[in-house]
Amino acid sequence: MIILGVESTAHTFGVGIVTDKGEVLANAVDSYTSKDVGMIPHEIAEHHNKVAEKVLKQALKEASVSWNDIKFIAYSAGPGLDPALWAGYHLARKWAEDNDKKLVGVNHCAAHLSIGKVWNKLDSPCYLYVSGVNTQIIVYENGKYRVIGETLDIGLGNMLDKFGRVLGLGFPAGAKIEELAKSGKFVKLPYTVKGMDVSFSGILTKVEQLLGKGVSEKDLCFSVQETCFAMLTEVVERAMAHTDKQELLLVGGVGANKRFCEMLNIMCQERGAKFFKVPMDLAGDQGAMIAWEGFLRKDESSDIEVKPHWRTDEV
Ligand code: AMP
Ligand code: MG
Repeated sequence: MIILGVESTAHTFGVGIVTDKGEVLANAVDSYTSKDVGMIPHEIAEHHNKVAEKVLKQALKEASVSWNDIKFIAYSAGPGLDPALWAGYHLARKWAEDNDKKLVGVNHCAAHLSIGKVWNKLDSPCYLYVSGVNTQIIVYENGKYRVIGETLDIGLGNMLDKFGRVLGLGFPAGAKIEELAKSGKFVKLPYTVKGMDVSFSGILTKVEQLLGKGVSEKDLCFSVQETCFAMLTEVVERAMAHTDKQELLLVGGVGANKRFCEMLNIMCQERGAKFFKVPMDLAGDQGAMIAWEGFLRKDESSDIEVKPHWRTDEV
């Protein structure tokens, strides 16, 4: 069976094609970027509508399949930005109607977890999901995802992007911050862990103050990374101890950061556990994960349109 997945929750419009074995045949994406202002919701929807046909064509070509080969269409129903979600839903619905295919709405966050799990052939990992909007520690228990720790304010990716905006790095900023951090030194920043939860907004405020006082950009980049990654490493270690998990799986765009992976890997090694991540092309937002999640959920109700605030633990 071959499934086509449509992703549109935030800055990325993607069309992915996978088999029922979790093999990725194509994963075409086109992402909205901007020089300074971050994401403007209606501009993102316009972007998605503009690139949709091109991205679809690219995916079909990459997979060497036609609509006849595709069993059904999965799309990201949420969570995400309202205009972006509606754009993706209407495009997916049009393609479904034009080609007489069933439409299955799936949860974007659950899709990040599922594609990482199938790619690494894992059984039941502790998940660390760190993207633009989301920062959550999740385990699957008794037929349901349980969020056992999360950010109390903004997602780590969004925090890095806001910090990047202050530095004039453009959007998204995570990779540029990682580059600048390589030659930075440590300055103390608020370290906010509350039980199993973390908070990042205080760090952002402090960093802006320190920048005004002349602390260098690279020292701030280094310190932001060390502090935020350490907070998450601490909470994840506690989560793994409590839930008796021997495998950690990092998913989401911030998972591209090498220093972050290194810290989590050291923590896992020290407790005799194993650290897993996903390849770059499956770490961020893309359609292959939506197609695969659609396959896993193909028998569930599909009459959901969009759900902008759909949490992982409501799936
Ligand atoms: P996602 O929402 O999963 O597509 O992830 C996007 C987020 O990942 C954005 O906030 C980026 O700034 C962040 N990101 C991408 N590459 C890196 C990196 N190398 N280090 C830290 N964050 C990154
Ligand atoms: Mg995402």
